[in-house]
Amino acid sequence: MPNSDSLISIVIPVFNEEANIKPLLDKLLPIVKDLRSEIIFVNDGSKDNTASEIKKYAKKDQKIKLISFLRNFGHQMALSAGYLQAAGDCVISMDADLQDPPELITKMIDQWQKGFKIVYAKREKRDESFFKKITASIFYRLINSLSDTPIPTDVGDFRLLDKDVVELLNKFPERSRFLRGLVAWGGFSSNEVTFERKKRIHGITHYPLSKMINFALDGIVSFSTKPLKIATYLGFFTSFFGLLGMLYAIYRRFFLPHDYWVTGWTALFVAIVFFGGVQLLTIGIIGEYIGKIYKEIQSRPQYLIKEKVNL
Ligand code: UDP
Ligand code: MG
Repeated sequence: MPNSDSLISIVIPVFNEEANIKPLLDKLLPIVKDLRSEIIFVNDGSKDNTASEIKKYAKKDQKIKLISFLRNFGHQMALSAGYLQAAGDCVISMDADLQDPPELITKMIDQWQKGFKIVYAKREKRDESFFKKITASIFYRLINSLSDTPIPTDVGDFRLLDKDVVELLNKFPERSRFLRGLVAWGGFSSNEVTFERKKRIHGITHYPLSKMINFALDGIVSFSTKPLKIATYLGFFTSFFGLLGMLYAIYRRFFLPHDYWVTGWTALFVAIVFFGGVQLLTIGIIGEYIGKIYKEIQSRPQYLIKEKVNL
């Protein structure tokens, strides 16, 4: 049970965020000053001075800790490494770019002390581009219509998790980690606090469109096998039309006059293109799942750690 002696872990994945470390800690440290806390930065293979910037603070303050990966392994892996390392009675994960306001931490802890095992920070308003908002909205709708586990809408990876939830996450053997889904999967009691998501203070997003699409596909494939069913239905649907076309072609060949034989190439062309498209699509869907199985089977290490500071 949470009490005044509880240890609060804060996990912050960082990738090329050198300019954000100081502003973030300037805000964060006063907030956690009176709490028993640790701040774990997971440096996801940054190419800039992110690591040395964090080390400067870690030298002065034992509660600032650092894990550095050998190379970039991705945001979800960095978060997973942080969860594994965190010793807290609860663990808060947040971005380094101050899009997730540290002021909210106190409110999240209040909710946790009331007994909620998960406290989501929900983005009520987003001061972000129209494109980001619309793609996010399509993504949440799509994944929720497909997934058996309801994925909370408009909550990112800014959340508080009780130790029980973190322990569960650490036990998941899967390599592909769509944490938003895995967190919801356990069915722990949850509540949310709301905030307005601002623009990043320094640097650019590390989630361009291509990465967002991959992230979305990963989430869908990890949490639903419905696309495979859709492929089957598409197969039934097109076979039905194929059968009609076949019957018509045979009828035409045997029951209509000879000069009809050579016409009809438009129908042929349309049919080839249509069935070709459907076949590629369904093979693609199956391929996504096979790719996932292949990666799991390979069982390579999920990330490699270069160094740890204060840990
Ligand atoms: N991040 C990371 N590894 C990556 C990409 C991002 O550790 O490969 C970190 C990044 O430094 C930031 C957080 O994950 O602290 C969220 O990334 P970003 O702000 O670029 O995403 P957005 O807020 O635009 O969705
Ligand atoms: Mg961000």
